[in-house]
Amino acid sequence: MAGESQTCIFCQIVNDPNSATRLLHTDEKVVAFQDIKPAARRHYLVIPNEHIPTVRDLQRSDEDYSLVKHMLRVGQELLQKDAPQTIHRFGFHPPPFNSVDHLHLHCFALPYMPRWKVVKYKSLGPFGGFIEAEKLLEKLRPLPSNV
Ligand SMILES: [Zn+2]
Ligand SMILES: [Zn+2]
Repeated sequence: MAGESQTCIFCQIVNDPNSATRLLHTDEKVVAFQDIKPAARRHYLVIPNEHIPTVRDLQRSDEDYSLVKHMLRVGQELLQKDAPQTIHRFGFHPPPFNSVDHLHLHCFALPYMPRWKVVKYKSLGPFGGFIEAEKLLEKLRPLPSNV
């Protein structure tokens, strides 16, 4: 895992104070920045500081649920600030649709641009495509314990 994170471009953004990437948000759990190839009027990525490769590495647990919930909240606040009055969408690509193997939440303020990009971020159901953040949260939400 350590070797993997050394070559990971997103880990470099998290760990390198001289990185050219302008951070829109930083805290002890996540950072946010603009997607280098914006596909919408606003297109931000929120990533965990920790190297978690993909959504497949997340489990139904308090820890993973609250991490994703926090990523979503940070994305929502950024778009609310930078692009209010527009439609916002939040979601993940499961492998093999993901571009970088470091978990990242795509945050869009619509419209998409150019238009055809909508296809890439359309939910294709349970077999692939874009996973809405709220759907992922449903999967990670800890089950009520039987008391
Ligand atoms: Zn990484
Ligand atoms: Zn992606």
